[in-house]
Amino acid sequence: MRIVLVGPPGAGKGTQAAFLANNLSIPHISTGDLFRANISQKTELGKLAKSYMDRGELVPDEVTIAMAKDRMEKPDAVNGFLLDGFPRNVSQAEALDEMLQSEGMKLDAVLDLEVPEAEVVKRIAGRRICRNDSAHVFHVTYKQPAKEGVCDVCGGELYQRDDDSEETVRKRLEVYHTQTEPIIDYYKAQGLVVTISALGKVEDVTSRAMEALRREDHAA
Ligand code: ADP
Ligand code: AMP
Repeated sequence: MRIVLVGPPGAGKGTQAAFLANNLSIPHISTGDLFRANISQKTELGKLAKSYMDRGELVPDEVTIAMAKDRMEKPDAVNGFLLDGFPRNVSQAEALDEMLQSEGMKLDAVLDLEVPEAEVVKRIAGRRICRNDSAHVFHVTYKQPAKEGVCDVCGGELYQRDDDSEETVRKRLEVYHTQTEPIIDYYKAQGLVVTISALGKVEDVTSRAMEALRREDHAA
């Protein structure tokens, strides 16, 4: 399956993507994680991306699309992928469509995670991620690691993302509403959107998502 996850920052996209990708045996591709890996490896792309990420703005389309395309062309993604954080505006969605069309492929579903803004703010405020791999995600109250400050998966140090500060989160939410939300209508016009509530326990949200994707798969 080729799936896009959408939802505001802090909705739980990364958390759900890890389980869904595992259940569906497809790679989880997060452009945010790819940028953070570039930042920790101190690449030129990382330096460029950080200047936008720290302000809560989108990294320019040209570099983002090239990076996402490069990742989607890796051998593990031939039979499908779960995109998290990409596309993030209509031009990225159009670029993705063109890329898939040129290979004779298409998306199967766009899973829209709905969460009230007050909950998103609480989730982001308590989010802690691992220095070794930003896909290892915890929360100070909702998903506590066994040992405070230490990643359960790899023993890495947990820290708060620079862009999870209150001011940057406000900007990121504004960017979500103005630039990312329009992709939902773009994909609705293609009949691809399934919306679920992302409130409640992580495992309940995963079950809801799997059920919605199964229905979508049968409808296709
Ligand atoms: P996104 O990738 O959409 O930005 P994350 O998956 O990083 O969101 O989740 C944001 C924070 O919320 C993390 O700290 C995560 O542990 C927590 N979280 C995710 N899903 C839930 C949930 N269903 N209930 C409570 N907290 C959650
Ligand atoms: P995320 O990890 O998805 O919350 O993304 C963190 C930050 O990375 C965003 O606020 C953007 O600055 C940048 N980013 C991630 N994905 C994209 C994208 N598809 N387009 C532009 N910028 C992105």
